Amino acid sequence: MIVLKGISKTYASVAALRDVNLSIPDGSIYGIIGRSGAGKSTLLRIMSLLETPDSGEVYYDAERVDTLRGRELLERRRKMGMIFQNFNLLGSRNAAANIAYPLEIAGLHKKVIDQRVDELLELVDIKDKRRARLRELSGGQKQRVAIARALAATPQALFCDEATSSLDPQTTRSILSLIRDLQQRLKITVILITHQMEVIREICHDVAVLDEGTIVEQGTVASVFEAPQTQAARELIHA
Ligand code: ADP
Repeated sequence: MIVLKGISKTYASVAALRDVNLSIPDGSIYGIIGRSGAGKSTLLRIMSLLETPDSGEVYYDAERVDTLRGRELLERRRKMGMIFQNFNLLGSRNAAANIAYPLEIAGLHKKVIDQRVDELLELVDIKDKRRARLRELSGGQKQRVAIARALAATPQALFCDEATSSLDPQTTRSILSLIRDLQQRLKITVILITHQMEVIREICHDVAVLDEGTIVEQGTVASVFEAPQTQAARELIHA
């Protein structure tokens, strides 16, 4: 369970988040939606410990994690995976070497890394692309490499930041189906932010609606999408 209690974050004079409270159950696929500037990325960065809140607390199960520093913080961060709209892969490395990267940083032996990379390539169904250069891969294949890299250290949570926003509809469906499949096989928690309502409908169990830094609505996707209670949610869902 990931729990946020009273999270606030201000940049200069902009209140990006205001008193956000949120509980994300283990094993759920949780969507966060909101218009541009609503605070989604800030929330994701705080949840994934890339940024600290000005006030409030972040818990992973019973452990408070927003106060971790140094080595403890690094170790905690290794236990979470992240994927992005633009993949954030290293252009100088082939597919396998991109997936190996976090394992190298963690100091594992080459033999262990090679074996794990093979497992991961198989997991995301691109075994034949082991030695492919990035420029030889399609967008969907690049996102598969990025997912494999994100899962390399067997994280408990996978954070997806607009992960399908640069993909065509068919590739989007195949990546979403992979994420759903991985969630079930690995029992991880998936948290995703997106402006694509079809992504939420397709794979999320629950959704939270952010507006001007505040969560204005949350619940099951069925309940929020069928009967949005706020103007902000209605605008997003019926856009
Ligand atoms: P979203 O992801 O929903 O588009 P963000 O979390 O990126 O929203 O941004 C929320 C608000 O905080 C915006 O007004 C944005 O301009 C501001 N903001 C976000 N990150 C920074 C930053 N590093 N420095 C200054 N302002 C920021």
